[in-house]
Amino acid sequence: MELIKQMELYAKEHHVPIMENDSMDYLCNYIKEHEIKRILEIGTAIAYSAIRMAQVRDDIEIVSIERDEERYQIACENVEKARYQNRITLIHDDALQSQVEGTFDLLFIDAAKAQYIKFFERYVSKITHSVVSDNLAFHGYVEHPETIQSRQLRQMVKKIKKYIVYLENRSDFETEFVSIGDGLAISRKKAENK
Ligand code: SAH
Ligand code: MG
Repeated sequence: MELIKQMELYAKEHHVPIMENDSMDYLCNYIKEHEIKRILEIGTAIAYSAIRMAQVRDDIEIVSIERDEERYQIACENVEKARYQNRITLIHDDALQSQVEGTFDLLFIDAAKAQYIKFFERYVSKITHSVVSDNLAFHGYVEHPETIQSRQLRQMVKKIKKYIVYLENRSDFETEFVSIGDGLAISRKKAENK
């Protein structure tokens, strides 16, 4: 069976929240159109999105950070199976602590929703083109918070909303919210006026 299909099955069986297919296609097209070459990903999980992004073009390089030990191990196996060890670098660490060298065209944030502002601020100085954030619709709860029963979930949705407002208010980025998959934000860096 094809590796991508195997990973999709594994994710389903083990409840790993990999990116939805529609948003994955959208992101890959964006990478292609804007000739994105270097990508920093926060939240590798099993390296599904990293491998899909690496498939866009063979000059794409990805650094991806995952804090969960088991997922990191599986991600390493998958990157080997895909033979992308030379283009995908996996880091086992908490992205709020890890030190990453160099600059990137694109930052892809797909990790703990409550920390999105922190991730953005920690890595923004390394980014030259765009920041893409996943899961901003959070299964429809962001638009319909009245349906939420649990307090914990309500808190989470509040934090996602706060991040949305934060993106809107960043005058150095132009953000477009795309209702695809579980909701994507594409924040494009504006040209600096000097
Ligand atoms: N991008 C993946 C899915 C990531 S799921 C894909 O689409 O294939 C989110 C992952 O983020 C989880 O595996 C979780 O362990 C990881 N994560 C959450 N907070 C993190 C943090 N602070 N640093 C690193 N990884 C984190
Ligand atoms: Mg996601």
